[in-house]
Amino acid sequence: MLRFASLPALLGGTLLQAPTDAAATVQHLLLDSRRVGVPAGTVFFALRGPHHDGHQYIAELYQRGVRLFVVEVPVANLAAAYSEAGFVQVNSALEALQQLAAQHRQGFGGPVWAITGSNGKTIVKEWLAQLLSPDELICRSPRSYNSQVGVPLSVWELRPQHTLGIFEAGISEPDEMARLAHIIQPTAGIFTNLGPAHDAGFASREQKAAEKMQLFAGVERLVYCRDHAAVHAAAAALPASVQRLTWSRHAVPDAAVQVALEPSADPSQMLAKVRYAGTEEVFTLPFADEPSVENVLHCLTVLLWRGLASAEIQRRLLRLHPVAMRLEMKQAIHDCYVLDDTYNNDLTGLDLALDALQRQPRRGRRTLILSDVLESGLAPEELYGRVAELAAQHGVQRLLAVGEAIGQHQAVLAAAVPEVLFFADTEALLAWFHPDKFRQETILVKGARRFGFERVVAAFQQKIHGTVLEVNLDALVHNLNYYRARLQPGTRLMVMVKAFAYGSSSYEVANLLEFHRVDYLAVAYTDEGVQLRENGISLPIMVMNPSPDSFGLLRQYHLEPEIYSFARLREYLQAAAAGPLPAVHLKLDTGMRRLGFDEADLDELLPLLRQHATRLRVASALTHLAGADEEQHNDFSRRQLSAFQRMAARLENELGYPIIKHALNSPGILRFPEAHFDMVRLGIGLYGVEAAGLDPTALRPVSNLRTTVSQIKQLPAGETVGYGRRGDAADYPRRIATLAIGYADGYDRRFSRGVGEVLIRGQRAPLVGNVCMDMCMVDVSGIADVQEGDTALVFGEGLGLTELAKRIGTIPYELLTSVSERVKRIFVSE
Ligand SMILES: *Cc1c(COP(=O)(O)O)cnc(C)c1O
Repeated sequence: MLRFASLPALLGGTLLQAPTDAAATVQHLLLDSRRVGVPAGTVFFALRGPHHDGHQYIAELYQRGVRLFVVEVPVANLAAAYSEAGFVQVNSALEALQQLAAQHRQGFGGPVWAITGSNGKTIVKEWLAQLLSPDELICRSPRSYNSQVGVPLSVWELRPQHTLGIFEAGISEPDEMARLAHIIQPTAGIFTNLGPAHDAGFASREQKAAEKMQLFAGVERLVYCRDHAAVHAAAAALPASVQRLTWSRHAVPDAAVQVALEPSADPSQMLAKVRYAGTEEVFTLPFADEPSVENVLHCLTVLLWRGLASAEIQRRLLRLHPVAMRLEMKQAIHDCYVLDDTYNNDLTGLDLALDALQRQPRRGRRTLILSDVLESGLAPEELYGRVAELAAQHGVQRLLAVGEAIGQHQAVLAAAVPEVLFFADTEALLAWFHPDKFRQETILVKGARRFGFERVVAAFQQKIHGTVLEVNLDALVHNLNYYRARLQPGTRLMVMVKAFAYGSSSYEVANLLEFHRVDYLAVAYTDEGVQLRENGISLPIMVMNPSPDSFGLLRQYHLEPEIYSFARLREYLQAAAAGPLPAVHLKLDTGMRRLGFDEADLDELLPLLRQHATRLRVASALTHLAGADEEQHNDFSRRQLSAFQRMAARLENELGYPIIKHALNSPGILRFPEAHFDMVRLGIGLYGVEAAGLDPTALRPVSNLRTTVSQIKQLPAGETVGYGRRGDAADYPRRIATLAIGYADGYDRRFSRGVGEVLIRGQRAPLVGNVCMDMCMVDVSGIADVQEGDTALVFGEGLGLTELAKRIGTIPYELLTSVSERVKRIFVSE
């Protein structure tokens, strides 16, 4: 094991302070201060980015037991504040991390494969692991850890007992690949394909191909599809020593593997007639969609090169299973949430999934439902010992263990987790299952595929009608970062999670925002704030319109009210005759004419505030623009902003301490960068609607409202549909689909009779007749193959809120916040 003491020499750094434990070794690399596992042996690398500085978290980490640090700037007060810790200073913590990983890689004697390309990297990697796991003990990147920081962390996991490493590499800018190549040092490679992803970072597609190809400059063998001309052209730059192993579906003569595809009797499969090294075989591929076929052909080429017998290749191909690219969190019975990760079950995947479980700060217990762990390559004692350790580390309180292998290690698991129940198989678990056995808990369901745990997840899901609002948490983070990147340095971020987080469910969104360290949350009413606190959210929360009878709750839950009138201020002061009160936010009316103090009120307000200064602190002053999103109101907006600055400056001066000043909502953030002041208030933009109209493609839609086709009817000409029988008879025969969504779900009745459209099988279907309470009907005459049970997208990706809102004369805000609470929310992330 590498000693911490040898890092300065290895990384070209300076030892600022040696750790008390002079023999401390480097075992775990930590970049994200929120993810400390075992503190002993953990080295924290204080990375710095445009919106992030790892040095900020050193104190917190020290408190949690981390003792080894790699930093870029000297740390104040070292000996006094961090007496036990070791510190190494380097020029770049990122480069130091990469150098350490490269060094570690050099110590590994086995083969290492690298995968790059625009699409399919993760799937090809996971499938190769599935296909080769009978023969190899593989170390591979977890999920899609393929970046400048993901690759070093992945490579660090290589151990002497591994027989093969498979790592993916992704880049978005020139010069990044050379660094990844230096870390991975691959002996063989796969170039999947070249698409438009990250084009923006490069001068041309050729430059991007050439850049990616650098990964393979030192490999012995490279696999790619000969039909991708750009990939082939870039491969010409590789040294002659690199053996090209290519496949073609278009009979390009120099391709080593010739493939001809034919449909199979089973529409979910394809037949591939394959010629290689003078032999010809027909393989059944277990997928029929284009991307999967390409991915599986890369893998097939690798198996052919490895010399596996055809029958064995076929056997393994048929066992391939889809790779779950995302973790889904689903609302379930009795206020529970289920984290659904039912597709694979290996140790790295378990670690990541437990991490996701631990990040749910809800009250109530954390339960893990786990099957036998496969593909670990470890001896069973060691494996289940690790499982027990991971479960304990991540605070699992109840374990339902399913399977024979796991059942043989009851003692070690029972010692690590307070409550453990064992089941011989999934049937036994389902027989035991009853909704009353679960209440307000977060449940991670993680099982190897053959255990069929999707049945367990189904048992947890409430019986619902077929409408769900899918909330894409990755899109939300993307949008958050989009706005963050546009803030003036030092500007704080308050995020509006009022109205159920614009319909997308406040607790989950708030939890994610807390994880991503926004500064403040805001809700409209006290109840909303209480609910967030009850669910473990600890960020400061501003309540915009608390009713006086809820002032006691504000104190109890540390919620900070917005105060907009003298009446409210007096009531607030009276609510608790003595003792300090949560800080307040003063709303200033500069032109909205809704709530707030006018400029003339300050003469009376200031003395009152000073009088109660010992109990009452003003946290901030805010105003709200009446026309932040529209150019035509710019003059008015600027007048509002300067009135605000004047009023806030006076408050600050006369109070004698600094207060946070904030004025801008989402469109304002983009349109008035000069007025970000100390904080901005992000709302609709986070949820995917760019209301200023400046950058319409920059945000990702967060909410997808989906429903299902309940029935399909063939109507002769002249028939009307639904209530009212007015105006919508057609003089031709039609096919009508009834959808399981109505105005009680929040689907606006103004969409009736052709105003609205939904998306089925990628095509638009117009509304027919009136929207009913629980249903509506659409014309699907023009859409081939529509079937009962099909999904219809009501809004979301491909059917934008802005367009739909215009059709009924409203704004996206109304559509988002109208989705009723009876519609189940599902949270997805990659
Ligand atoms: C809702 C709200 C916002 C956020 O507005 P968006 O247009 O959704 O960004 C900001 N400030 C106040 C006072 C609000 O009520």
